Amino acid sequence: MKKRFVLWSLLGFGIYALLLGLYLFQWSEFGVPEAYKGTAADPETFMTPRELELTEEYSRYRYFLSFLGQPLEWLLYLGIMLMGASVVFKRFSEGVSRFSAIQIPIYVLLLSTISWFIMFPLDYIKRKLSLHYGISTQSFSSWMRDEIISFWIGFAIMALLITVLYKLMKWSQKRWWLYAWLLMIPFFVFMMYLQPVVIDPLYNDFTTLQDKQLEDKILTLADQADIPADRVYEVNMSEKTNSMNAYVNGIGSNLRIVLWDTTLNRLQEDEVLFIMAHEIGHYVMNHLYWNLIGAIVAAFFGLLFAYYLMNFAVSKCGRKWNFHKVSDIAGLPVLFLILSLLSFAASPIELAVSRQAEKAADEYAIQMTQDKEAAVGSFQELTVNGLSEVNPPALVKYLRYGHPTMMERIYMLEQYDHKKK
Ligand SMILES: [Zn+2]
Repeated sequence: MKKRFVLWSLLGFGIYALLLGLYLFQWSEFGVPEAYKGTAADPETFMTPRELELTEEYSRYRYFLSFLGQPLEWLLYLGIMLMGASVVFKRFSEGVSRFSAIQIPIYVLLLSTISWFIMFPLDYIKRKLSLHYGISTQSFSSWMRDEIISFWIGFAIMALLITVLYKLMKWSQKRWWLYAWLLMIPFFVFMMYLQPVVIDPLYNDFTTLQDKQLEDKILTLADQADIPADRVYEVNMSEKTNSMNAYVNGIGSNLRIVLWDTTLNRLQEDEVLFIMAHEIGHYVMNHLYWNLIGAIVAAFFGLLFAYYLMNFAVSKCGRKWNFHKVSDIAGLPVLFLILSLLSFAASPIELAVSRQAEKAADEYAIQMTQDKEAAVGSFQELTVNGLSEVNPPALVKYLRYGHPTMMERIYMLEQYDHKKK
């Protein structure tokens, strides 16, 4: 059984990697279609031949690594069940304590640790690739520090959630998923509230805007949208990366707009203002609240499906895999596998919704600034700076892109005047 699993998974993973490689390195055309040639969205108009070559190379490798991670995670959970590791973790945790409030966190710690070690090489190669192409500038020690922080934060949250979830499973075999969902709602809100003030500062330094002249202009723009000054932050990312970014996160009084210092340092002033206007767009259109509602709805269906699929898994594989009821912690990898498959299946919908929101924020920004040149310039600069492919292969777009492609974004902005009311 164990030998067969190892053989089949190696074979399956090998075939998957081969097909993926063929798709990304042989079958996919990079660059823009004929209709976009010569427009501002065509990278040949704003990138050097060397930059174009590096972008294509870097993108292919990056997509390849990104798509390898998903099935590896699924094989990991399956392997832990089939090889009997889950039962070993469970027995170990029972040996440490009689109380499930201690047993479950210990089980989760063992599972998280083994998962971390198995996924580590892939993360490490991704980092190496990013360093090689001059995107990341982060030292190994700083990168490891971030890895360790996210391991422990992930563990703390997971241990809490799983302990509560398995209590609910014991308490109500039929309704655990519904009670879990009801508890998830305040939990989501609480986490969104904590994110910018507790979690994000563990990784990076956040300050008010440093460049006072630029700050005046940014705050004037924020003021036009009734956003108070204490909502705009700068984060020190230049120690870690050359790429640029900005985002909105948090909720309620912790809702804030964050600009990476790389964006502030590398873009022209009017270009920074366009990026800021895009983030203001998210803020004004309440995209974060819509995200929250989306997450709550998705969690409802995710938990409902997980309930049926867990019952099915126990009846089909429970005996073989040594987990005899849904509430048996030894079945946790099965639950993770189910949740991961469900979230993968839902991701194209989630990403399509996100692409719509991003498009709306771009439209808001161009209407607000009316500065087409700065808008196009900022996205071109972002593209060159991150060596991003403006028109990724279809599978990459539908399975990975939460933003419209740069080709779509720049083209929309360039065409803006013609569509104006
Ligand atoms: Zn955005």
